[in-house]
Amino acid sequence: MASIEMKNIVKKYGDGFPAVNDVSIDVADGEFVILVGPSGCGKSTLLRMIVGLEDITSGDMVIGGSRMNDLAPRDRNLAMVFQNYALYPHLSVYENIAFPLRLKGDVPESEIDAKVREASKTLELDEHLERKPGNLSGGQRQRVAMGRAIVREADAFLFDEPLSNLDAKLRGQMRTEIARLQKRLGITTVYVTHDQTEAMTLGDRVAVLKRGVLQQLASPRQLYTNP
Ligand code: ADP
Ligand code: ADP
Repeated sequence: MASIEMKNIVKKYGDGFPAVNDVSIDVADGEFVILVGPSGCGKSTLLRMIVGLEDITSGDMVIGGSRMNDLAPRDRNLAMVFQNYALYPHLSVYENIAFPLRLKGDVPESEIDAKVREASKTLELDEHLERKPGNLSGGQRQRVAMGRAIVREADAFLFDEPLSNLDAKLRGQMRTEIARLQKRLGITTVYVTHDQTEAMTLGDRVAVLKRGVLQQLASPRQLYTNP
């Protein structure tokens, strides 16, 4: 696990108005921070700069105390959980979770097995290990994606609007589930959404962006009493 320090981060695409404009946010080790704001405010751009999918125009990205500006995604130990979860449909739950360890090529089978079983127990997936993603609920799929991140022992979880394609009922269930898991796991998390309810119920702190500028950074409680 690790802290994420964004220091005076600027992103310009071409020579237009900055998509992200001098944003500084410290995410503490184990903290859950929500990035919220209207479409086009720069949330995804900021998240992609944390993961390394987007170059930083100026400023510093410091993760676990190390400057990451010039490191490729594969050299940052971060786990991005996408909207569609990016699971392999032809692989079982077990093999989906084991996948990042198999990629490394040198992890003994006994260690892979122990890690997959431990993660699936934590995530309450141990009874579904032989199933394929196509036969799982949205909530179970989300947990498989998180299991894959857990076995990699990632420094942080990054979520990009993971619930935006779900119907209202499932979205409510998933909100509860994510909040519960993150509390239990205590993994540093940055979560992008444009949904006010998610912003006000999920995180330890909420960062409100508008046209690339950080407007507020406070706990949901502080934002609620002082909007
Ligand atoms: P959000 O995630 O909050 O909807 P984005 O980070 O996607 O916002 O976009 C922020 C701004 O940057 C928008 O004005 C968008 O049009 C612009 N932008 C995003 N990606 C690109 C890109 N690849 N090239 C040029 N402009 C982009
Ligand atoms: P390789 O480059 O070893 O052929 P990949 O491109 O699939 O394999 O993954 C390279 C590295 O990218 C992984 O070891 C991991 O650090 C990182 N990575 C893979 N998936 C993700 C993800 N969902 N989010 C963030 N980083 C990832």
